[in-house]
Amino acid sequence: MPASDAGEKQPWWADGLRFSCEGCGRCCRGEPGVVLFTDDEMRLMAHEIGIDVHGFERLYVWRRYGKRSLRERADYDCVFLEGNHDRCAIYRSRPHQCRSFPFWPEVLESEWSWKLFSKTCPGMDRGELHGRLEIESYLS
Ligand code: SF4
Repeated sequence: MPASDAGEKQPWWADGLRFSCEGCGRCCRGEPGVVLFTDDEMRLMAHEIGIDVHGFERLYVWRRYGKRSLRERADYDCVFLEGNHDRCAIYRSRPHQCRSFPFWPEVLESEWSWKLFSKTCPGMDRGELHGRLEIESYLS
């Protein structure tokens, strides 16, 4: 073992975690949430739906806790969740926050929190094995 690893505490998920999205859309609806994004991500989302960033900001963005967030509908569904299909209308350009679920700090905090989130996400604990390096890249 390299000297730098001696005594280093390993995360509980050091051997990787299984996850494959089943596309059910549950994480995109049902409860109030915040979806943050960068300027570059906003440009990509606007490009995907064919409008300029000013139009995008006017139609699809509001402020939550002092930050820009994608809007929600009155029932808290993400504004980009396509009603009958549970599909994301900007899937190819969805921001990092959406791409990195469920590898979020609050989910990975403990095995308990992972299990808690997995009660509402049918893709967790099954399917593709994601290794430590990949998970760490989502966290950085
Ligand atoms: S709840 Fe889980 S399985 Fe369903 S869309 Fe979200 S990430 Fe995918």
